[in-house]
Amino acid sequence: MAGTIAGVLSLHDPDADEVPVVFDSPHSGTEYPDDFGCIAPMANVRWSEDAFVDELFAEVPGKGATLLAAHFPRAYIDVDRAALDLDPDMLDGPWPEPLAPSPRTTKMGSGLVWTSCIPGIPMYDRKLSVAEVRRRIETYYKPYHAALAQALDDKRRRFGRVWHVNCHSMVSVSSVKGPEGRAGMERPHFILGDIDGTTCAPEFTDLVRANLAGSGYEVGINTPYSAAELVIAYAEPAKGRHGLMIDIKRNLYMDEETIERTHAFAALKADVTRLIEAICEYARRA
Ligand SMILES: [Zn+2]
Repeated sequence: MAGTIAGVLSLHDPDADEVPVVFDSPHSGTEYPDDFGCIAPMANVRWSEDAFVDELFAEVPGKGATLLAAHFPRAYIDVDRAALDLDPDMLDGPWPEPLAPSPRTTKMGSGLVWTSCIPGIPMYDRKLSVAEVRRRIETYYKPYHAALAQALDDKRRRFGRVWHVNCHSMVSVSSVKGPEGRAGMERPHFILGDIDGTTCAPEFTDLVRANLAGSGYEVGINTPYSAAELVIAYAEPAKGRHGLMIDIKRNLYMDEETIERTHAFAALKADVTRLIEAICEYARRA
């Protein structure tokens, strides 16, 4: 299934000799649907975007891997959350099945449907209707997960193994909403997340770490972040399904206030492209 669903996602098949690797950029979407109905200032809402991450990884198809990218923003519905990670109190009526709001995400206002944005500004002055949240799930969340699952399953079936690289960016200094629990903590250049070595073979995490360290970057592993739903849901190393999150510090490539690329963007993209090549070469050899 290569192609585009307007406003929802793009799936780019490999342009070169195919390797069993799928990169996905779930949070770089900027197409805010008309029925968003959010009251927070857009400047604050937009800090939740992993801006330009799809562009940083744009060379993926040319190196032989598949690239999936969301068009919608995470502030509207967050595909990197479990489908039931929702606060019943934000809804105007009962949800048809038992919800499982996570203390780490929904409690911070950033569950499946975000309720607050940095630095803790409420996004709605109303309860959301069950119907509108259902529509966000059916129209955006499910097609994104289906496209990712299908791409991974297809490569796993044809190659016997598959590597999923889940691509994000992070604010450079923690906010009050961050996992550090306080504002002002400087982050490393990159964070890799494999849930303590459980979502991919440790040698894969080490390959990525070593490549980035070789380009001069400081790399954190599983702290203060690790992988979330998109990696956890599809990874099973014992069955040849490897998943790793890569989080990039935003001040390496963008102005975090204005959400514009800086002069450093091209150099970072070149380093990311070298990382993509190393990952594809690893999968080709494996
Ligand atoms: Zn993200």
